[in-house]
Amino acid sequence: MKKTGLNELRKDPLVGRWIAVLSESLPPSEYCQENSREPVREDSCILCAGREAEASQEIMRTPGTSLTDPSRKWSTRVIANFDPVFTVEGDLGRRGEGMYDKMNSVGANEIIIESPYHAIEPEDMGLDQMIRVIQTYRDRMADLEKDFRLRYTLIYKNHGRPSGALFSHPISQLTSTPVIPKRVKEELDNAKQYFSYKERCIFCDIMREELRIEKRIIIESRHYIAFCPYASKFPFETWILPKSHNCAFQDIRPDELEDFALILSSVLKKLRALFPDLSYNYFIHSAPNRVTRKDHWHSLGEDYHWHLEIMPRFLRTTGFEWGSGLYILPTSPEDAAKYLREV
Ligand SMILES: [Zn+2]
Ligand SMILES: [Zn+2]
Ligand SMILES: [Zn+2]
Repeated sequence: MKKTGLNELRKDPLVGRWIAVLSESLPPSEYCQENSREPVREDSCILCAGREAEASQEIMRTPGTSLTDPSRKWSTRVIANFDPVFTVEGDLGRRGEGMYDKMNSVGANEIIIESPYHAIEPEDMGLDQMIRVIQTYRDRMADLEKDFRLRYTLIYKNHGRPSGALFSHPISQLTSTPVIPKRVKEELDNAKQYFSYKERCIFCDIMREELRIEKRIIIESRHYIAFCPYASKFPFETWILPKSHNCAFQDIRPDELEDFALILSSVLKKLRALFPDLSYNYFIHSAPNRVTRKDHWHSLGEDYHWHLEIMPRFLRTTGFEWGSGLYILPTSPEDAAKYLREV
């Protein structure tokens, strides 16, 4: 049954989670096809250099080193998502339906093409390319923060098919939503509560503790630590945390940005040295858009601290984890950090 129109955001009244319902419902048969869909091959990839006209609308690009060679005309490109769940046009249309709350699915869905080359990840292309990718993340975050309708921008990467990756070209994605997603909201609320009790940032405290204990640290650089969190949800889960306190990723200074590109490349290379076919997701947790909430949330700048989380995808989530939210960790974070340190 297909109906057309705007996608809808619905709030679960029991747990407070927002979900997006697509206006064009997929019939059951499409789900089987979805599972057997092969990743796009190199010769049919419209994200590759030279096929820009076939891809969706370009939002920005980082210039490359040549004006004529198609593979060096740009180094990163941002385009609109092919199947956007959130659309840029329109107002929020917040409304109730009986006891339920809903609104229009206003927001942004973008694809960040990390390289003009198909078969290589930016961490293998040298530090300069990784820096350009991180600069692209920063520029998009800073731009979308200006839209007063949007509350949150999440930048994330799906690598490998079990992680949900549809393209084999190296890309990251970005989704801006008019609501703060539940997983982020839980972190923000807990950080705010910790701050109001202790008058210290919980992430700064975690960092001091991890540096003191040392056994969960993988690498320490000038501006960051990479470590396996004390209560990781997944084996080999790794976080990168900036040493100096800052709530928003897009405020990163140029020297911090270079160091961030370096530590992220190093961690990804270490993970792949242990697990050559690794599937993973990573995402940046940063403050919600500060523009609309300037005088609403006084302590946000002090109580939240941006970071990147990498989730390797080895295990399928079982009924116990879905039902309880309690994760089982077959390798301890201390051992995981040791393996990653030594590889
Ligand atoms: Zn490609
Ligand atoms: Zn902090
Ligand atoms: Zn987080």
